Amino acid sequence: MIDQEKIKEGVRLLLEGIGEDICREGLMETPDRIARMYGEICGGMDGDAGEVLSKTFISERTEMVLEKDIVFYSMCEHHMLPFFGRVHIAYIPDGRIAGLSKLARCVEVYAKRLQLQERMTEQIAEAVMEHLSPKGVMVLTEAEHLCMTMRGIKKPGSRTVTYAAKGAFRENRELQEMFFRMLER
Ligand code: ZN
Repeated sequence: MIDQEKIKEGVRLLLEGIGEDICREGLMETPDRIARMYGEICGGMDGDAGEVLSKTFISERTEMVLEKDIVFYSMCEHHMLPFFGRVHIAYIPDGRIAGLSKLARCVEVYAKRLQLQERMTEQIAEAVMEHLSPKGVMVLTEAEHLCMTMRGIKKPGSRTVTYAAKGAFRENRELQEMFFRMLER
């Protein structure tokens, strides 16, 4: 659970640390505002991907399902700065399919916490594999990291791409190629 009092205290220290006057008007409400904001942007900490993906439908289909361009916002755990972009999830059903909004909600569970893009991509793939039991799953994430674009090496617009392939997608190159072709459409 998020401890808002601790966050407020931390933000006050941070403001003092950078030489701010925590009593000036513009900053009076800032610790409070940030504490509430963290409840939202780290709200995935209390989420349960298993619960999100528990609503499934029986289906005979075995063709690839691709849910693409799922927009997400997350926070890099090294700098606590945002990284954001799109996640694409493909799976080969094996008797069950998920409601389409459920994949997007699964992304939220793992995005709304301090993260690494590589780990988030892997966790989403693992969650779909575990809770939907498909023949295979492939997840591709492309994101811009503010810790790379507003500080450090400052390369605006550069994107980091990570992917995870499980089951049939791991073994079958043709399936992977089909996934990339479908992404281009
Ligand atoms: Zn970073």
